[in-house]
Amino acid sequence: MKIVCPYAEVHPATSRALRRASAEFHDVSGDDYAYWRLLRDLWAAGEAFIVVEHDIEPSAVQLRELAACPRPLCTFEYLYRGSAAVSALGCTKFGQQLLRRQLQWTFQLGALDFAGHPKWRDAQAYLLSQLPPAHVHEGLVRHHGALP
Ligand SMILES: [Zn+2]
Repeated sequence: MKIVCPYAEVHPATSRALRRASAEFHDVSGDDYAYWRLLRDLWAAGEAFIVVEHDIEPSAVQLRELAACPRPLCTFEYLYRGSAAVSALGCTKFGQQLLRRQLQWTFQLGALDFAGHPKWRDAQAYLLSQLPPAHVHEGLVRHHGALP
């Protein structure tokens, strides 16, 4: 299954894990909409894919588990700011069945106003709001957070 890493700065551990998995790396640091455009384009391409964000380190087993699961939308949780486990797009599979859905791609970043979060987080929240609940897989993927 296609593995895509949208990045501004790739964490070295993420880079190692994903190069082994033959991931595609996409620079989305150009502007706040770049991540959103990438998701829209992947959707339009219609081929199942796994998003792994630039500071998430899934194991090879976890990537295989997502790819093998028959459910359309699957994710692993990870620790955010050291505590609560969250499911966002950190490590998420979008299955073929899902990609046939028509989505609303016109979107104003900032509209959801997640105080203290970068604006691109709005895009993933908006995308997930249009999809059925994700199948959350057992266990956590490693989240390295901001580079030191
Ligand atoms: Zn699943």
